[in-house]
Amino acid sequence: MHSGAPVQLRILPAPVGTGVVFRRTDLDGFEVEANSHNVARVSYATSLMKKGVLISTTEHLLSAFIGCGIDNAVVELDNLELPILDGSARPFVEAILSAGIRKQRRPRTYLRMRRDLELREGGKFIAVYPAESYSVSYTIDFPHPLIGKETFRVELSNGSYLKHIAPARTFGSREDEHAMRDMGLIRGASRENCIVLTRQGIENPPLRFADEFVRHKVLDLIGDLALLGKQILGNVVADRAGHAMHTALVSRILRDRTLWEETTVEDEQEPVSVPLRAAAQHAM
Ligand SMILES: [Zn+2]
Repeated sequence: MHSGAPVQLRILPAPVGTGVVFRRTDLDGFEVEANSHNVARVSYATSLMKKGVLISTTEHLLSAFIGCGIDNAVVELDNLELPILDGSARPFVEAILSAGIRKQRRPRTYLRMRRDLELREGGKFIAVYPAESYSVSYTIDFPHPLIGKETFRVELSNGSYLKHIAPARTFGSREDEHAMRDMGLIRGASRENCIVLTRQGIENPPLRFADEFVRHKVLDLIGDLALLGKQILGNVVADRAGHAMHTALVSRILRDRTLWEETTVEDEQEPVSVPLRAAAQHAM
């Protein structure tokens, strides 16, 4: 999306306790763990960096992992940026489901919020509140005839991620295009990998959902919160936040151990509880 560089990506199984690890096959297999210590740059996308080695635009794949219930994986890539594919998480989800998911023996450890945490910055807001499941509510207010004020709330269980969030694509406007290209961004952007907004409408209809824009923000937020390294039990609320605030929330949570506890869940319901073949069709 941003570098415009071709890339090959391969997702491999990993043992219990690995978490998500990116491996640069073009740099002797150098590994960068997907956690908040390695967060590098966050403006239009979330990037990780360790010892000068960059892994860029991580949020859509990490979001797909959370949505599919993947805790442990090694992600090999031969360049610095993950592929944008169609601009959503759906191609990642379909690939994961067709490869299959192995349930590991150790119960998953969750990060359960014990207290409220709210962050504000100008008109932007993000918060997480204690809850027995993981839910996300996002509000955007974007001055465009097709968008305006949109709110979307989702409970991340029962396959709702696959159906309601994964297909939502990223978006950008023709008006911002030149400024972004001047900053060295969106070199790989096209009508095939993002919704292109014009003054009055979009260049490449149809939308997958009337409120696809806010659903994509939910997708991004889930991907950024994956940098906690654990699935959350909490209700996350965001209003006009962005990658920088999402990752700020992650570091604030991790910095204060009194905010949360680690726990396992009895009789756990998997996010992907339907038979995998059926789910793959469902997600398409
Ligand atoms: Zn995104």
